[in-house]
Amino acid sequence: MHEMGIAQNIVEIAVEAARKEGASKVTRINLISGELRGIVPMQLTFCFGIVAKDTMAAGAYLDIEEVPVSGHCKNCNADFSVEEYEYVCPKCGSPNIELTGGTELRIKDIEIE
Ligand SMILES: [Zn+2]
Repeated sequence: MHEMGIAQNIVEIAVEAARKEGASKVTRINLISGELRGIVPMQLTFCFGIVAKDTMAAGAYLDIEEVPVSGHCKNCNADFSVEEYEYVCPKCGSPNIELTGGTELRIKDIEIE
């Protein structure tokens, strides 16, 4: 379950940011999670709860915004979203595409008090 390691990272980053700001508590963390990361939000929320316990992030709300996989066709320049892992351009059928979204995993913002 790789969610535990990710939760650990999120808590560390959030606590560090809160400490820098002189805050006493992290209240909310907004996370961007690309579909290709294969993160199960429920599992991540569960792991987060365990890891955040006894830290400044304890009880913080973890909001996970899932980003779909998107691609760009190098053949016809179309931008599209990739459905069901079909890595061909829906317009011209070319497999010559590059992924432009769906692999990211980052904290968008953190709310503290
Ligand atoms: Zn195309």
